[in-house]
Amino acid sequence: MKEHDLVVIGGGPGGYVAAIRAAQLGLNVACIEKESALGGTCLRVGCIPSKAMLESSELFQMAKNHLAEHGVSINADSVKLDLPAMLKRKDGIVSQLTKGIDGLFRKNKITRYLGHGKIVAPGKVLVEGAQPEELVCKNIVIATGSKSAPLKGVEVDNDRIGTSTEALAFPEVPGTMVVIGAGVIGLELGCVWSRLGAKVIVLEYLDRILPGMDSEIATEAQKIFTKQGIEFRLGMKVTGAKVSGKKCVVTCEGAEPITADRVLLAVGRIPNTENLNLDGVHVAYDNRGRIQVDQHFQTTIPGIYAIGDVIGGAMLAHKAEEEGMAVAEGIVWGHCHVNYDAIPAIVYTHPEIASVGKTEDQLKEAGVPYKKGSFPYMANGRAKAIAASEGRAKVLAHAETDRVLGVHIIGAHAGDLIAEAALAIEFGASSEDIARTSHAHPTLAEIVKEAALAVDGRAIHF
Ligand code: NAD
Repeated sequence: MKEHDLVVIGGGPGGYVAAIRAAQLGLNVACIEKESALGGTCLRVGCIPSKAMLESSELFQMAKNHLAEHGVSINADSVKLDLPAMLKRKDGIVSQLTKGIDGLFRKNKITRYLGHGKIVAPGKVLVEGAQPEELVCKNIVIATGSKSAPLKGVEVDNDRIGTSTEALAFPEVPGTMVVIGAGVIGLELGCVWSRLGAKVIVLEYLDRILPGMDSEIATEAQKIFTKQGIEFRLGMKVTGAKVSGKKCVVTCEGAEPITADRVLLAVGRIPNTENLNLDGVHVAYDNRGRIQVDQHFQTTIPGIYAIGDVIGGAMLAHKAEEEGMAVAEGIVWGHCHVNYDAIPAIVYTHPEIASVGKTEDQLKEAGVPYKKGSFPYMANGRAKAIAASEGRAKVLAHAETDRVLGVHIIGAHAGDLIAEAALAIEFGASSEDIARTSHAHPTLAEIVKEAALAVDGRAIHF
């Protein structure tokens, strides 16, 4: 029986950050992870490999269709896709980064156990693996993440009909790919395979894409992706999908069945709570499987904490990381805080879509008086220079106090530009603060400054 101050179950961005922060604060920490590689969904089969594929497919698309406008002349027909090389590069990046976490664990003297962690009682965890071991500890953090949500009638075979994991490693470019769900995963991976040559059809239950994002920005995104060749069928209730020979047939209520080479199911994710023995130790969770926690991330049982996708809130790696830091600090210091209003969300399509704070829809619904400043990429010199004039930034500020309430950007490098807006919200800045801050010229960051100036009707370049 081994003893630790803290046992973290799950080695994803929530779990490994909690483990490192707790070790920095002087605790004797262990982390149990069932996969041989650390890093969780994000590093192994999520954020990182998808960003590698987004970059590579974007370069392929650029070489084929967009170099000529820069005066770089190549024979577009000679641009060939080497898919195995593209996939190998992605796998290499994943391998380097997951090994990096091993290194961080060694540096911070964190003990790593390979196996499935099961809570036997508060202060007692069983590692179910090749060598079962019982661990005794003062505190437990559950950071087991989430998995792809199933959909009734859709027969996932983890090959032709699969989740994001399969769609990150298709062995060939599908002729036709059906994506079920116009959320973040559906759009990012739909974009990858569309750029590589697949006919992509996105089926979405709602009458809009990207629910949760600012609706004006989502409408603009849909127009841009449609121009890029992605077909959207909105208001479509998918009732089934099954493999038939080498094809898949997708059925929808009130519409003709669709035949495709591959299907990506991306209708959300659900918490990973099976075989943790939550009922046995009386840890409460809601009807969607999300573990209930208080402001210190403690569950209904003292000494057992939970963070990341397994609790409520946005299922984002960086949200889990913030909670990982906070839970460790809360255990050691007795207090901790995460500002959920300042957590950005990014869709890594081209152009990128990024947001932080409240959407315009939320402000309207809550009856909060606001002012809005919007500035288009096409009026920015740098955007023109890099041939990225699609999109805009929008700053929402309180009508009376001018405090920044939300910033939404669609356009090149939106994911990098949003960092400034997150900082503004974290510091309680006004739109005037952003507007009065010097932004270097010529940069895309000037778009955010101009949108802040536009809140008061004084954008200079538009
Ligand atoms: P999502 O919640 O973003 O989108 C799911 C979509 O499926 C929604 O638009 C929903 O209306 C639709 N849908 C649900 N049932 C349907 C049906 N029967 N037929 C057709 N459409 C249906 O979920 P996701 O894209 O699977 O992503 C899962 C989670 O992972 C999200 O929380 C997301 O934020 C996170 N994620 C984030 C990133 C990122 O930050 N870049 C990348 C990948 C995943």
